[in-house]
Amino acid sequence: MTTRGGSPSWCACRARSASPHSTWSSSRRETRPRFLTTVILRQRKRSAPASVEAADFAHVRLDPLLEAALDDRPCDVRRLFLDVQLEGTTSPRPSIETLLHAVALGLGDASWVIHTHPTVLTGLLCSSAGEELLRSGPLFPDEAVVCGSRPLIVPYAEPGLELARAFAKCLAAHVADGGDRPRVVYLANHGLVALGASATEAQAVTTMAVKAARVRLVASTVGGPRPLAQEWIDAVVSREDEIERRAALVGWA
Ligand SMILES: [Zn+2]
Repeated sequence: MTTRGGSPSWCACRARSASPHSTWSSSRRETRPRFLTTVILRQRKRSAPASVEAADFAHVRLDPLLEAALDDRPCDVRRLFLDVQLEGTTSPRPSIETLLHAVALGLGDASWVIHTHPTVLTGLLCSSAGEELLRSGPLFPDEAVVCGSRPLIVPYAEPGLELARAFAKCLAAHVADGGDRPRVVYLANHGLVALGASATEAQAVTTMAVKAARVRLVASTVGGPRPLAQEWIDAVVSREDEIERRAALVGWA
């Protein structure tokens, strides 16, 4: 779990290619070395908002982490983390969940990833009935537009390498099954991973996923949710005005 000092936290990262001093860019279809910058945002005081300083950012090479996640042999993660840290930086040791981020960036068609443990969503993910609520598909147009039509649910695995490996297998199966690369990934008994092409998109997906969890809780108290029909989802996500609205929501307009 990405917690430090026992405080609630969230963990964000982004990918870039070429040298550590190059422009940030997408991790897609890159053959040059890729780098990952990750940070854990934490509340320094219970009443204060989460904050971060330059020294909190860890800078690591992405590809060795992704290779370890795609392998199934034993791996000394502590050694791996030392090996992947960029020379010349004073990075703190990255979170154990950096491996999860490497999979999201390397395989998930994303440039930004935010991993959180929102109480309402983690609560649903700690319940079999709650997980079924999350599998039921989008319940309202905004959820379909921002979070996509089909989330990925990853069964519980120990945070760290085992979780990253489980995530990689589930993501590959999801895509092989005809699914788009998801924007929302639910980790059973754990939390949320939001994928985005921009920081604004990853944040918008996180916010909408939390709202959607609250909506499910409300719907479950009044007879159960009524998911949108697939044709309604297809219609709303392809409408020109909704495409423009999503662009504004995720920071592209
Ligand atoms: Zn976590």
